[in-house]
Amino acid sequence: MRIHLLPCMALVMLLLTCGSSLADTPPAPLNNWEYRWGDSPLDEKGNPVWLRDESAPWHAISFPASPPEREGRQHVWFRTVLPEGEWRDPVLYITSIDLIAQVYLDDALIYQHGEFDAEGKGDFVGWPWHMIELPEDFAGKPMSIRVFSYYTDIGLWGEVKLMDRIDGFHKVIKRSAMDLAVSAFSLLIAILAVIFALMGPERRGFAAIALFSLSAGLMLLAEAPARQLIAESALAWDTLRASSYYMLPVAMGLLLSYWVPGRSRRWMARLWQLHLAYLIGAIGLVKAGMISLSLTFPVFDALLAVTLPLMLLIAVRRFSRFGLEQRLLVLSFAIFAVLLFVDMLVAHGFLPWRIVPLNVGTLGFSIAIVGISLWHYRETQRQLAHVNQTLEDKVFARTAELDRLVHELEGLSLKDSLTGLSNRRHFDSLLEHEFRRAERQGGRLSLLMLDLDHFKNINDSLGHDAGDAVLKGVAALLKRHFRGADVVCRLGGEEFVALLPGVAMEEAASRAKSLLERVRQHTFRYESREIESLTLSCGVATYPDHAKEPKTLLIKADEALYQAKNSGRDCCVIYAPPIEA
Ligand code: GH3
Ligand code: MG
Ligand code: MG
Repeated sequence: MRIHLLPCMALVMLLLTCGSSLADTPPAPLNNWEYRWGDSPLDEKGNPVWLRDESAPWHAISFPASPPEREGRQHVWFRTVLPEGEWRDPVLYITSIDLIAQVYLDDALIYQHGEFDAEGKGDFVGWPWHMIELPEDFAGKPMSIRVFSYYTDIGLWGEVKLMDRIDGFHKVIKRSAMDLAVSAFSLLIAILAVIFALMGPERRGFAAIALFSLSAGLMLLAEAPARQLIAESALAWDTLRASSYYMLPVAMGLLLSYWVPGRSRRWMARLWQLHLAYLIGAIGLVKAGMISLSLTFPVFDALLAVTLPLMLLIAVRRFSRFGLEQRLLVLSFAIFAVLLFVDMLVAHGFLPWRIVPLNVGTLGFSIAIVGISLWHYRETQRQLAHVNQTLEDKVFARTAELDRLVHELEGLSLKDSLTGLSNRRHFDSLLEHEFRRAERQGGRLSLLMLDLDHFKNINDSLGHDAGDAVLKGVAALLKRHFRGADVVCRLGGEEFVALLPGVAMEEAASRAKSLLERVRQHTFRYESREIESLTLSCGVATYPDHAKEPKTLLIKADEALYQAKNSGRDCCVIYAPPIEA
């Protein structure tokens, strides 16, 4: 195809600025047509005899196309006399010719579409529009058209009018404007849909939209009359038109099968697969040179005449159960399908020739698809946001649960599991804390180091479990004895410690003594057996009297306890520095 973009754009500019006001006489249709089946013999000069021969009968016909009683004939002649008219640059505009033709004015061949062989036959060369240049003195002259066609129709098709050339171009541009605009819109959607399909999610849906928009866009471009201004080869354009047209039901089926649920989807799939098979088969045979492209159209249309209503039926069957988006899609599809059907009826002469606004149908369908996709996209985003929120809530709940567990674990790790008292770890931080507070406030802090006397004996005589029971009993007693700000901890084994904030040395010693008395008096039991009297030894150290650091306070109390043990146990000793030698 040779591309003529620059002259084409120049022409468009010219037409847009000039409009149609140049013509003196408006476009005029040709009347008084006659036809004659068969092909003319040639005279000795090689000119068709029928150009002058009046012997055989010519029959009147309202329009030079498909005369009655064809009976398989592939040749026909049409003729008429060109009327008067004031045109500056007169042309004969013909929408389309089935399939090849020669146009004579008087005896002279003035135009030819396709190539005739010795038998007067020729190949299909596409369905372009024709603008046949006429001489100035055309008025009143006979015009004959020799036609050959193996197609379902034979002759001219669409409009056959005399007009100014500029009006012809104007008509072409005007008729193409909407087609080209919708085509560009559809191709843009196709590109966007391809991008979305590549990105995912909903790949299949977007791929179907891309295919539909691409087919519709190419079809409209390939059948816009202005196509000839862009590139010449009508056959190439018609091949593109056929391919995109045949692809349309494939794309529509794919799209509908994506949106329509359940069994309808399977049926829809069978229909689009059938059309895909036809597309591949038909275009393949055409490319292999085995059949004429023109003949693939009526077969396709016959197929579509069956499948299109079926698709519509499947789509509409569950209409009442559809959501808003599905209804909108089916509705726009129905409108498009009806337009396609009418276009088909016009193409095959079941309806008088008219321009069917297929582009409006395409536009409606495309807009519906875009609208639905956007709506769907928004819904997906909303669902995503909802899922996100739920996830966040769950994470929040889990974190709270985790926090609670960590807290519990921390609590556990600060407590002695046997007695429930604070353990050594906790004690260290408590001692540090209370010591610093006493320092800051200038208060006192006494520390009692407590150790059960001969505890080993209990384990040895009554068993380890009895020893445990005693430890628990002592812990409970300590808890009762020390209250309020006092802190009691199990340092390990049978050693305990009591931290008394704000308590001076003497008072601490007196409280220790009363504790020792209490323990002495207490009867500990294990499995309802009484345990022989138990005693405690205690060492006391006080801040600021004995230590300037927490660790030292502990050491001093321990030393005092050691002294208590050495003094015969069951007694309380206040720390006293060893006498220097
Ligand atoms: P002293 O009067 O000199 O303190 O003598 P004692 O027997 O109390 O001290 P010693 O250090 O000789 O023995 C302490 C015993 O405490 C040894 C150990 O088996 C026991 N013990 C330590 N922890 C536990 C415990 O959790 N449960 C039990 N049942 N026994 C323990
Ligand atoms: Mg001990
Ligand atoms: Mg002991």
